[in-house]
Amino acid sequence: MKSFITNNALETIELGNKIGSLLVSGDVVLLTGDLSAGKTTITKGIGQALGVKKIINSPTFTIVKVYKGNIPLYHLDLYRLDGLNNDFDLEEYIESDGVCVIEWPFQVKEILPKEYILITLNRLDEDKRSILVEGIGRYEKIIKEL
Ligand code: ADP
Ligand code: MG
Repeated sequence: MKSFITNNALETIELGNKIGSLLVSGDVVLLTGDLSAGKTTITKGIGQALGVKKIINSPTFTIVKVYKGNIPLYHLDLYRLDGLNNDFDLEEYIESDGVCVIEWPFQVKEILPKEYILITLNRLDEDKRSILVEGIGRYEKIIKEL
């Protein structure tokens, strides 16, 4: 596990970029932290590293946004999943050959993969965030390169 403090959104994007540069097709990243902790912000950096050119914004009202890159990015936000019926096929994205980044992942505990990167963000003040990055399973090695 590695821990970081960022002092502004750009630093969080930079950290996301670093993490993204270590990812390959099929990887899964889970993001936890309160609203405004910086989950979507760090995803912007991950997307940069994957070669996504479009601006990455919160998918809160759409559940999933798909971005073209050198590796496709599937950006999911499950915050509102409760209110949906069950025909949303999350596994389709988790098992895809893109990189899958999931905000509020523990809404769907039962179908999460066994191995993933877990990023926990905490708001320390207006512009300061603590960011823990954990590699579960095969991702343990990747985290050492951060
Ligand atoms: P979440 O997806 O967790 O709800 P967002 O990334 O959408 O959070 O929002 C985070 C907000 O906090 C943005 O407005 C961002 O500019 C701001 N912010 C300020 N400092 C930081 C920081 N160090 N890291 C990330 N975001 C920050
Ligand atoms: Mg968000």
